[in-house]
Amino acid sequence: MRLGQYSTPEDDAAWTGVARDDDAIVRLPEAGAAAGIEIPDATADLLGDWRWERKAELAVEYAEATGTGVYDAAEVDRHAPVGDPEKVVCVGLNYRDHAEEGGNEIPETPVLFSKFPTTVAGPDDAIGWDPEYTQKVDYEAELVVVIGEEARRVDESDAMDHVAGYLVGNDVSARDLQHGDGQWVRGKSLDGFAPTGPELVTADEVDDPHDLDIYAEVNGERLQDSSTDQLIFGIDELVSFCSQAFTLTPGDLIFTGTPPGVGVYREPPVLLEEGDTVTVGVERLGEVTNDCEYR
Ligand code: ZN
Repeated sequence: MRLGQYSTPEDDAAWTGVARDDDAIVRLPEAGAAAGIEIPDATADLLGDWRWERKAELAVEYAEATGTGVYDAAEVDRHAPVGDPEKVVCVGLNYRDHAEEGGNEIPETPVLFSKFPTTVAGPDDAIGWDPEYTQKVDYEAELVVVIGEEARRVDESDAMDHVAGYLVGNDVSARDLQHGDGQWVRGKSLDGFAPTGPELVTADEVDDPHDLDIYAEVNGERLQDSSTDQLIFGIDELVSFCSQAFTLTPGDLIFTGTPPGVGVYREPPVLLEEGDTVTVGVERLGEVTNDCEYR
């Protein structure tokens, strides 16, 4: 199942929906209500519901049988699949080839940092910044884990049961702020610096999340090109590790790190400018393309 959040011009707020293969979107709260199933508007709230996948499947079945709540993808706006996560956890230096690129040692335990939830943006939003505030904006293609079931002190062997699915994220980074501050939160947390999408692909549709191509392109030129088989700490290890320290709740996002080829380490460096177009993609999950603009 591919879950997103959408709106029509008549809607005040986004609603959760299922993207079908035929370019139709099923508006889950509407189709669910008609079928007698209560489905909340926000994807994060849906993920917290008991047996949410079954409820969503029933709503989709009803929509397909009756046409209720079925929209043409061309008539809706796409938003971040999980628009209001409680937490956005990030992992630094988690690809063998990227750690080597920066001259860093392979870490023995995951290096965690965070982006504020206000960074989360949708697949069609522009990445914006004030060019007087930062001059070193960079891209990072990442596989993002979406938490389904609450996780507190879970073992690695149980960790995957707490994963709802995956999406593609761009961990946009202001390198001058990130490296100038001594810690990273400001440089990682400019508004809208976490484009995500195109949809949340549920875990049952991804056979092996540790064997997926991952890439980034700037203006059509491929600058990152690796595989999630390069991950130092796998998704089960990351979920378990995080959950020893803090409770992961439905809708939380874990950015699992980026492969080599980020702009700041290139010779010469490739830093984003107004008018650039950045695409990040992961095999089976799709890709997200955002324009860059000065604000
Ligand atoms: Zn990152």
